[in-house]
Amino acid sequence: MAKPVVDKDLCVGCGLCTQVCSDVFEMGSDGAAKVVAGADLDDDCIQDAIDQCPVGAISN
Ligand code: SF4
Repeated sequence: MAKPVVDKDLCVGCGLCTQVCSDVFEMGSDGAAKVVAGADLDDDCIQDAIDQCPVGAISN
């Protein structure tokens, strides 16, 4: 899977993606989610995070 991208303008900082896929997403100091540096991009949970983000902020 390609590296996911979080649209920081859309992200509402709910933290769901960091719970669904904690090895790939983390909360940044700006209150928006971001992709962990060096994350395993083969992780199946990336798609789960994309599907479950309430505002559709994650794409890849
Ligand atoms: S699930 Fe979506 S809105 Fe929530 S923190 Fe992650 S990217 Fe932001």
